[in-house]
Formats: sequence, structure tokens, C-alpha cells
Amino acid sequence: MLTPQDAWETTYHQLQLQLDQAKFDTWVRDARFLRFEGDTFIVGVRNTFARDMLQHRLYRNVARVLSDAWGKAASIRFELLPADNAKAHTQDTELPLFQIMAEARVPTLPTYAVADAAPAPTYAERVPAPVPASLPEMELNARYTFDRFVVGPSNHLAYEAVQSVLDAPGRHYNPLFIYGGVGVGKTHLLQAAAHVSRAAGRRAIYVPSEAFTNDLVVALRTRTTPMMREKYRTADVLIVDDVQFLAGKDSTVEEFFHTFNVLRESGKQIIVASDRAPADLAPLEERLRSRFSGGLVVDIAPMELEVRMAIVKLWTHEQNITLSDPVVQVIAESVASARELEGAFNMIAARVRLTAAPIKRDDAAHILRRLEGPRVHNRALTLDEITRVVSSVFGVSVEEILGKGRTKAVSLARQAVMSLARELTDLSLIQIGAGLGDRTHSTVISGIKKVTELCASAPEICEQLETARKHLLGQR
Ligand code: ADP
Ligand code: MG
Repeated sequence: MLTPQDAWETTYHQLQLQLDQAKFDTWVRDARFLRFEGDTFIVGVRNTFARDMLQHRLYRNVARVLSDAWGKAASIRFELLPADNAKAHTQDTELPLFQIMAEARVPTLPTYAVADAAPAPTYAERVPAPVPASLPEMELNARYTFDRFVVGPSNHLAYEAVQSVLDAPGRHYNPLFIYGGVGVGKTHLLQAAAHVSRAAGRRAIYVPSEAFTNDLVVALRTRTTPMMREKYRTADVLIVDDVQFLAGKDSTVEEFFHTFNVLRESGKQIIVASDRAPADLAPLEERLRSRFSGGLVVDIAPMELEVRMAIVKLWTHEQNITLSDPVVQVIAESVASARELEGAFNMIAARVRLTAAPIKRDDAAHILRRLEGPRVHNRALTLDEITRVVSSVFGVSVEEILGKGRTKAVSLARQAVMSLARELTDLSLIQIGAGLGDRTHSTVISGIKKVTELCASAPEICEQLETARKHLLGQR
């Protein structure tokens, strides 16, 4: 008999497969089963933002999956988990940029402070936090090591390049530029390089480019750019992930360009990763693109079936689970990238643990097939399309949405575009802001927050959003 905890676990893994990556990471990843009360599952989440999102916009979806797993209609209540990392903040402080970015883009890296939602800040909490003496560094994911990295035809060049850079940092290929699509293992490889560098006593900084931008934004706001420079320009190895997100951010590109030059001139190693080749990084400034192409550029191709199978086998050993080869193959065949692989594997692993009996190939296929529907891959929506749909649903013209006006109706429509763009595209906050009449990423963050709050208190707004969303989903 399934316990409520098991039902939630199953739900969690199903959601991991059903929702797109950003959505899952932002709203669901940290959710934890707390208890079962009457007929209600009580699930803990880390901040009010996630709670409201789950309790309202995602509720029907989550409740449906949970009811499926539980075998009868289930209701859920989302509660805030006790803050484990209390930091000075006030209630109306906007959600820190780095939280959204860290959670949405680099989910597996615990980093910086987490905005919890203490209901009434005490006096001590209202006092602004002093500027820290040095900038915090991002923690590395302990699981992203070389011994957990499977090398195969698709990634061996990149793997070799990283190894040779680590043998003699700053000497052979500088910078080393690695590119490839989602889930091919770029972040894993980069962080493995950081682990090894640190173990060798080098100061290695791993940073997703959005966190670099964020450090700069904070530095400019608090007039602490020297501290920021100190942090990055003293690295022995600087590793920057997802550099495609630098495009369009002039001050960041400028700062990064100088950091790059300082490090290179002093023989320090730079490694970067991107979702596309340097030449395709326009509108990133030409001088930076040519710096990127000036070292070694290697790509990682989509992972072959054998590599995905080898990864699944690695995980089965680690977790002490036995799966027959045909089952391993079914799992590996069910997804295209290693990122989705984990969700599929977890589903099967959960079943094996639950029944404590070996699973047959057909059963595994059956479990995975149930997840296929919602995951059929869709083309990406553009900001223009989203703006047009919101314009017609909210009765506000596209010009008004892109313009300066701030009447209630116009602001609401604009915030709806921000929120839908965040949810339905891979655009960064910065790109969304830029595409919406040159607004800043913090405007986008507050916009999304605002519309989420409105949605929680005014059902008609939620419905409008839902209508726009349905429309858009129908378009892809
Ligand atoms: P990317 O940064 O290219 O989008 P990630 O590095 O985030 O991809 O990889 C997605 C997931 O797949 C991670 O959990 C990672 O550990 C795993 N992964 C990717 N490539 C490999 C590999 N070659 N061996 C083992 N695990 C891998
Ligand atoms: Mg990555």
C-alpha cells in the first residue's frame, strides 16, 4: 500500500518529467512532503513565490498527478518550510535576482541566500544587512565530478580538452570554449574542472554568466566594484557557464571583457560554455566573440544511446538498484538528453524501491509511456507571439505593452507577458526586459512577482492568464 510520502515522491518525479526544466526547478524542485492531514497532503516549499504559484497556477496540474499516484482524488496545501538560511530582509524586498536566476537557471547549485517568507520581519531583520566583506562564491555541485562523467563519442573531444587544460592551466588553450545543446553535460564538465582545480590548490571560480551579471549589478548599486573585481580578477581558473546570456548586457560585457583580458594576460585559464558556437553568439560584441574563438572551440554533440545507457548504469550502481539491460535501454530510449534522463530514471528507481521486486521491460516501458503525452517537444514561443496573445486577451495594444504607460490595465498586461515569457520560453530575465521596451531584469522580477500575487487574490486575472497560456500552448 502506497504511503502518502510515496505518492508525493511519485508525483514529484512525474512533475520533473512533465514540466519544462525551468518551471520544475523554479517551483517544484525544493518542495518536500511534510505530513498528511485528513485528506490533504501538506507540502513544504521554500518561499511565498513558489507557494502561491503551486497553490494557484500549477494547482490543478499537480493535484491531478498526485491524485493519479494516490489512486483517488487528493488535495494539497503548500506551506512554507522553516527558513534554514535566515538572512536580513524585509517583506516587500523584491525577490533577490540571484535567487530567481540561481533557481531557474542553475538549479542544482545551492547559492547565496534564499528568500524565505517570514511573515512579520522583526526589527533586527528590517535593519539592512551590512555589505559583506567579500563576495560569496557559488558552491559547486558535489555530484558533478569526473568520476561520474561518462565519456563517449559525443563528448570525448570536450573531455580531452578540459583534461589538457587542467594539466597545464593557462598554457595550451586559452580560452577553452565548449558549446552544445541542453543537457549534453556542459555544466557537469565545467564544475568537474573546478573541483579538480581546487583540489590542486588553485583558486577556481565557477560562475554562470547571469550570476556574474548579478554580481556586477549589485556592485554598481552598492558602489563595490573593486570588490567584485577582486573576486574575479584573482582567479587562477575562471569558468563561466552559459555565456550566451551575456548578449545584450553592455555593462556586463564590458566588465567581462576586461576581466577576461586581465586574466589572460597574466596566464590564468579561462573556460567558458555556451549553447552555441562563438560565431553564432551575435548580438554579443564582436571583440568578445573573437576572443572566444581565439582559443580552442569544441562542441559536445547530443548524447548517443550508449552514453545514456552507461549513465543510467552508473546511477544504478550508485543507488544500489538492480535493473536489467533491457530496462536500462528502455529508460535511455525514452528521453533525448541526460537532463531528462534523471527524471525517467528516478521514476523507475522509485517503483523498484517500492515493490522491492525486479521490474520487467514492459512495465518500465508502460510507466515511461504514461509520461510521454505532455512531454512531446514543442517549438519555442517568441516574445512577440506572447505579447500579441496577451494584447488580445487583456485588451491592451501591443504598443501600449511596449510603451511607457503605467495605467493599471497596461501594467497588468505587461506583467502577464513577463510571467508567460518566463514560463514558456528559455529567455533570460534580461532578454525579456530588453524585449519589452528596454526594461531592466529587476523590473521583470517585480512584474512577475506582482502578477503572481494578483493572481492569488483575483481569480479573474488568473483566468485571463490561463486563457492566454492555453492560446499560446496551442500555438506551439
Ligand atoms: P548542460 O549544462 O549541457 O545543459 P548538464 O551538465 O546540466 O547539461 O547535464 C544534465 C544532467 O546530465 C546532469 O545531471 C549531469 O550530471 C548529467 N550528465 C550530462 N552529461 C553526462 C555524462 N557524460 N555523464 C554523466 N552524467 C552526465
Ligand atoms: Mg548547463
